[in-house]
Amino acid sequence: MKLDPFGDFQRTHRNGDLRIGDAGKRVRLLGWCKRIRNLGSLVFLDLRDRWGVVQLVANETEVSPELLARLKAVRGEFVLGAEGVVAEREQKNPNLPTGDIEVRLTDLRILNTAQTPPIPVDDSAEANEDLRLKWRFLDLRRESLQRNMLLRSQVAQIVRSYFLKHDFVEVETPILGKSTPEGARDYLVPSRVHHGEFYALPQSPQLYKQLLQVAGFERYVQISRCFRDEDLRADRQPEFTQVDVEMSFVRAQDVQDMMEPLLVELAALVGRKVQAPFPRLPYRDAMEWYGSDKPDTRCAVKIQDVTGVFAESAFNLFRAASESGGQRRVRGLFFQGEQAGAMSRKQLDELQDVAKHLGAGGLPYVKWGKDGLSSSFKKFIDAGLEARLKAALGVDGEGLAVFAVGADDQTSKVLGEIRLRLARSLGLIDESTFAFLWVVDFPLLEWSEENGRFVACHHPFTSPHPDDLDRLETDPGSCRAMAYDVILNGFELGGGSIRIHDADVQNRLFKAIGFQEDVIQEQFGFLLNALSYGAPPHGGIALGLDRLVMLLVGATNIREVIAFPKTAQARCLMTSAPSPVDPRQLRELRVQIEQAQQWRAGVMFFESVPAEVQAPLGALRTLTTANAPTSTSTVVLDGEVVKVETTRLPL
Ligand code: ASP
Repeated sequence: MKLDPFGDFQRTHRNGDLRIGDAGKRVRLLGWCKRIRNLGSLVFLDLRDRWGVVQLVANETEVSPELLARLKAVRGEFVLGAEGVVAEREQKNPNLPTGDIEVRLTDLRILNTAQTPPIPVDDSAEANEDLRLKWRFLDLRRESLQRNMLLRSQVAQIVRSYFLKHDFVEVETPILGKSTPEGARDYLVPSRVHHGEFYALPQSPQLYKQLLQVAGFERYVQISRCFRDEDLRADRQPEFTQVDVEMSFVRAQDVQDMMEPLLVELAALVGRKVQAPFPRLPYRDAMEWYGSDKPDTRCAVKIQDVTGVFAESAFNLFRAASESGGQRRVRGLFFQGEQAGAMSRKQLDELQDVAKHLGAGGLPYVKWGKDGLSSSFKKFIDAGLEARLKAALGVDGEGLAVFAVGADDQTSKVLGEIRLRLARSLGLIDESTFAFLWVVDFPLLEWSEENGRFVACHHPFTSPHPDDLDRLETDPGSCRAMAYDVILNGFELGGGSIRIHDADVQNRLFKAIGFQEDVIQEQFGFLLNALSYGAPPHGGIALGLDRLVMLLVGATNIREVIAFPKTAQARCLMTSAPSPVDPRQLRELRVQIEQAQQWRAGVMFFESVPAEVQAPLGALRTLTTANAPTSTSTVVLDGEVVKVETTRLPL
């Protein structure tokens, strides 16, 4: 189709702005055809631009044959320039901001055509997510995604002006950085100039922002991109954005006080009223009461310790815990009310499956319903035990109690999840509220079975609590950190800490996590140098911008607030990154690709070979006895999955 020239056609109005007060005006509009309908002698066209939709109309008996022919050639998503006169509609549409008016067409330019979109471009229809990601430039036309991206842009602007108002300096830090041990896996970039050497993309600007404090900037902020090469979960992406903050001469409280008004302002942007200061909850209490270091406090139900209740019980599983000297405990949740007391067998079975999946043996329960008490361990419950249990859990009337027994980390994991599930299914979570809180006093270090040493819970630049510092060598696991997380509705929005500014303490901490002197010097020499040249006391925080925007718009997946996200396999389905590159580029970098190995294997068995000998080669045997003369399959050889081609040979 021959396109009309754009020429000097300019819009007089944005489509979404037109109102009844504009009636009688001659307007020029631009946009995409959202929908076109032929109704007898009338043709209606909904024209969409970034600011909204307006209805255009042409009456066959009134417009010129040329205009009519052009209009009839229009299909969905064509790009148009329209001229017409605003008129009051006969049938108004109260669901549309421009629903009182329509534009009677006098001229139309087809600026571009469009193929039929492979996915719906409005929110009325759902499409498969892979397709949406492949056709992201069309998907982004959806109203919901446009709204999300707009809000994201507003959030970024509020953040910038907030910190500017508070005298922060915005400094950009390198994307090509140094790989250091600890933390997540790095994305590496080979250096062309220095063969065999690599840059690492920043997991966060942590050390740079600390060095900027040594440099005397005192208040730093950056909306920074971070990269972590980790297996992805629903709310993770290989690259993500942080609001990164660092301040000199501050206590933990000062950093928190700086962040709260910003979060209050951002909540107000989506109509949520929240009060600062936010509650502070020590890590230990968070784990004890909510089984989580990011508790959703919109539900008031807390985990309770009921170990003592079962001290004399015939229920061995629970009684044994009371004899374990605190190694194992019985902990429980009680949900009050008729609905909880009426929970069906099927619902309880589903919860039990969740508990099992999390490593529990089951989910023992006691239910007080319409027909009295029922329980998975009813035969052990006599009147005395029931009374003690009711007193301990505060049972009054109907309700449901569920229990977990074991070591604290295990019972926290199970009850933390069950608490959330029950709270959701019993409607105890008010989706209209924002519950912010600070979790404080995190442990400094935790033992890593995998590494056979202590690792930093936050990062190794976090200051130990001054009261615990003298235990750093003798009892590292008991030291608290000057670290804090800010939580919103059960999500970790961000975290930070007061940093170590004393080179000796930094050195002691590196040793506590098992770094040898040479590694410390090689990897972190620059930091230790900096700390020994007048580093001020300093601290900071980073907020996850993607997650923050996700919660503000009420989405459940961060892909909904990122323009061009990657899949859970870290792929961009639109551009197909990552992709192979030209061998010449690889040669320049002196990078060699290890070719996937092809194996050819053949196995012959004689009847006399005992079955135990044949068994480990089971996969091969299946192939060799298959009917097909040749077949391909995969087997595991030396821990690697390899492709095996097998040919059946006649004897
Ligand atoms: N750099 C830290 C992180 O990315 C946050 C901080 O301590 O400021 O988690």
